[in-house]
Amino acid sequence: MEVRKALCLRSQCGTVIVNSAGVIIGRGYNAPPQDDISLRRCHRKHELDATFKSDKTCCVHAEQRAIMDALRNNTDNIKGSTLYFLRLDEQGEMKSSGNPYCTICSKMALDVGSKYFVLYHKEGIVVYDTKEYNELSFAYKE
Ligand SMILES: [Zn+2]
Ligand SMILES: [Zn+2]
Repeated sequence: MEVRKALCLRSQCGTVIVNSAGVIIGRGYNAPPQDDISLRRCHRKHELDATFKSDKTCCVHAEQRAIMDALRNNTDNIKGSTLYFLRLDEQGEMKSSGNPYCTICSKMALDVGSKYFVLYHKEGIVVYDTKEYNELSFAYKE
């Protein structure tokens, strides 16, 4: 399972992208660029200046990785695909996600033509239309 390969020291996430025929076309887990652990920034969040403007996440997101994987290997299949995201807790158990908030991944998923974005919430599995997912991410408030 992708999520078990995660190299991030702060959270373990995995994503698979499935085409409209139900075949997996992209896989990803969160990790430093090129899986190079010397590039880990996971415990360096405090080094970021308070005025730092860009994404504060330490690692490449699992969703980004899965989208890039699909772009490399299954370009023709991404339109209409479904992206499934999963996070594990410290004990390695499935952890429910909060509301959509990552506009990097929501924009990328929308840009490549992925149709649905699926999260596991406390209430159960929720299938979002990717457009809606993007709108919800931009509307997110902590
Ligand atoms: Zn990390
Ligand atoms: Zn993201």
